[in-house]
Amino acid sequence: KYMTTAEIREKYLAFFEGKGCKRMPSSSLIPDDPSLLLTSAGMVQFKPYFLHQKELDPAYIGTTTAQKCVRTNDIDNIGDARHLSFFEMMGNFSFGKYFKNEMCAWAFEFSTEVLGLPAEKLYFTVFEDDDETIEIWKSLGVPEDHISRLGEDDNFWRAGPTGPCGPCSEIYFDQGPEVGCGSPDCKPGCDCDRYLEFWNCVFTQFDGQEDGTLAPLLTKNIDTGMGLERIAAIMQGVTNNYDTDVLRSLVGVGERLSGKTYKQDAEVDKSLRIIADHSRSVTFMIADGILPSNEGRGYVLRRLLRRAIQKAHMIGIEGPFLNDYVDEIVELMGSVYPEVVENRELIRRVILSEEERFGATLRQGQVFLAEALDKLEGDTLSGEEAFTLHDTYGFPVEVTEEMCADRNVKVDMEGFERCMDEQRERARAANTKDAEAAWSTYGGIHADVLKEVGATEFVGYSELECAAKVV
Ligand code: ATP
Ligand code: MG
Ligand code: MG
Ligand code: MG
Repeated sequence: KYMTTAEIREKYLAFFEGKGCKRMPSSSLIPDDPSLLLTSAGMVQFKPYFLHQKELDPAYIGTTTAQKCVRTNDIDNIGDARHLSFFEMMGNFSFGKYFKNEMCAWAFEFSTEVLGLPAEKLYFTVFEDDDETIEIWKSLGVPEDHISRLGEDDNFWRAGPTGPCGPCSEIYFDQGPEVGCGSPDCKPGCDCDRYLEFWNCVFTQFDGQEDGTLAPLLTKNIDTGMGLERIAAIMQGVTNNYDTDVLRSLVGVGERLSGKTYKQDAEVDKSLRIIADHSRSVTFMIADGILPSNEGRGYVLRRLLRRAIQKAHMIGIEGPFLNDYVDEIVELMGSVYPEVVENRELIRRVILSEEERFGATLRQGQVFLAEALDKLEGDTLSGEEAFTLHDTYGFPVEVTEEMCADRNVKVDMEGFERCMDEQRERARAANTKDAEAAWSTYGGIHADVLKEVGATEFVGYSELECAAKVV
């Protein structure tokens, strides 16, 4: 049965509220946790509860949320059918009150009864030797051949190098053989789209230590995440996240601005999807007080913004355009996330300013890159050229890498990093802090935001990379 994204969100929260969970708001995309760059999962705001540094009101057995998430590790996958850089994670969390039995039963009940998904299309994975969870799924009527075991990479979940973590069990929806790779060996966990992972139930039992060992937590806990856009795709009978109500509307904005029609040209489609996705990330990041900069989360924001601008340029969108997306996002999501409504003017101004700055140099940078590629001998763009693109034309190096990859050219990243280090040395010597520069660029308009959230912490590239790997 067709359900809108909004209906699914509400049904999920109401269902777990009915089980005794406290409905709580999404936390900010800026985590209250120095080990993480951005909020990448629903559990992030509950880390102190898992560690019993904070206790939940005993009237409740757990919590339930719709959490906004940004995952930098998925940026390069954006445009495929199931990875978004911004998505909503529907979660429920127990801090010692309920565990596997209840969780599996409720996930099954919600999927088959509330959403009405046919049980025969559901597949379940468990962590390696977790026989207990296999027995629980079987007791709910799941046939043995719909349950499989997966290793550490897929079925042991952690939000970062340290902190609460544990084995997990995931639920997949079989979208049918036509959607996937067609291999007779295709099964849940295969990278193709046939079996779509939509729900992860983590049995949070451990506290990962600095030295890599796992200490048991005081209680056995539950942390689950159901991807709202993925389940919306299932409920709306489509096999691509971008064909769901909210994201399709955003693709529509790009169609209108570019004059192109979706699903006529694969390259154009990919750009339309990337812009639709990135427009949500940047809108929500700015709403939470992140501003474009050259370091840390501000750099993630800048990279997303500039990539969206470059993709728009490729499909013939001229001049500033992203505010049309902002308006549509406010329209579509403002009732659930009032911060985008409240900060609409800030969001619009920050984006416009970034579009003007990058728009002015994008074209020249493209000419520079085209010339560099034309006279290139070998298959690698030099670090110096990538640095010039970054420094003079404002190209995030990942955007340069992507544009080069389109021509089967690599970028000498080591050389690029060397140039960056030299520049950082010069900057340090001159005592110019990027942070201050970033704030003063947008000075005035966001003084209140600055007060509220404090200046964005600049964690630098090493942590960015680290976070990119572990989230
Ligand atoms: P995948 O294997 O598809 O990359 P994951 O195992 O990394 O997903 P989890 O960390 O288990 O994802 O997150 C819980 C749920 O959140 C997933 O089951 C999925 O429904 C959703 N989700 C995760 N990453 C994304 C994303 N990039 N875009 C949309 N939904 C996502
Ligand atoms: Mg993933
Ligand atoms: Mg997975
Ligand atoms: Mg998973």
